[in-house]
Amino acid sequence: MELIFGTHNNNKLIEIHKLLPSSYMLKSLTDLNYDSEIEETGLTLEENALIKARTIFNTFKKDCFADDSGLEVSALGGKPGVFSARYAGNHRNAEDNTQKILREMKGITDRQAQFRTVIALIVGGTEYLFEGIIKGEISNSPLGQNGFGYDPIFIPEKQPLTFAQLTLYEKNKISHRSRAFEKLVEFLKR
Ligand code: IMP
Repeated sequence: MELIFGTHNNNKLIEIHKLLPSSYMLKSLTDLNYDSEIEETGLTLEENALIKARTIFNTFKKDCFADDSGLEVSALGGKPGVFSARYAGNHRNAEDNTQKILREMKGITDRQAQFRTVIALIVGGTEYLFEGIIKGEISNSPLGQNGFGYDPIFIPEKQPLTFAQLTLYEKNKISHRSRAFEKLVEFLKR
């Protein structure tokens, strides 16, 4: 069964490929030579995941899914959320984004935060949403070299370390994305 994953990110593709039953032929946007930019104009992760999935479904007329993720900080009213990639500006710089969060969190004792992933799946024209969450806290300073984005300032619950101090294997066991992927795969296996 062919299934399109609306991404050019090979790491995400590998991560889900490992979980999917072998009856699924997973294709990325790179495999399909699709290089148009899909405008992520939604105001929520759900809207953006749906915008991407609908665009792909309308283009290829094939079953597909797309994901959108973000960091949600309680004391900042859920920001940066859907604007995580470009929180410090359209240049999408991870270092600037993390420094902006640390500045805004200076002196704030409630450091609760979560990463959230939403996956929109379209099968035969019907839409489904799946969510994955990992709760944790914002650290006082960046720590660790692994990962990407906000990993150096996010300490997942039940861990003494930031995401950037964990190996990719350790992070993937508990991450928001893995949790959403697992729900998607469970659904597809039914
Ligand atoms: P995307 O939807 O997976 O492209 O994620 C959007 C943005 O959220 C990224 O550019 C990062 O800033 C942030 N983000 C999402 N997932 C993670 C993660 O696992 N670690 C760190 N930052 C993340």
